[in-house]
Amino acid sequence: MTRLLAGTIYDRPPVCDRCAKPEAECSCPPIRPPARGVTPPAKQTARLSIEKRKKGKIVSVIRGLPTSENDLAELLSRLKSACGAGGTLDGDAMEIQGDHREKLAQLLAELGYKTK
Ligand SMILES: [Zn+2]
Repeated sequence: MTRLLAGTIYDRPPVCDRCAKPEAECSCPPIRPPARGVTPPAKQTARLSIEKRKKGKIVSVIRGLPTSENDLAELLSRLKSACGAGGTLDGDAMEIQGDHREKLAQLLAELGYKTK
């Protein structure tokens, strides 16, 4: 903070825009900067598939979403909690344990993603 106005009537301690308290006393939560450079879901197409892993384990796999300018980790955690299942992010592949094709297709559609 520069003090260009030091000594003038404008030389007041900085106050918070939201609670109008001096910044030192402010306890407002920090404002998250708006997400920048994130590709809108409508411009992304997710490919849903079911794959078998060792010991016959079934996983639902979502591929095709860009890994850059995107928050796949955030999306995966939403999908995992909605399915009540564990999962991992492996490159551009989001794996969710179990067969959740229908649920995932519905969730992705609700979030605005195209699926195929
Ligand atoms: Zn505040």
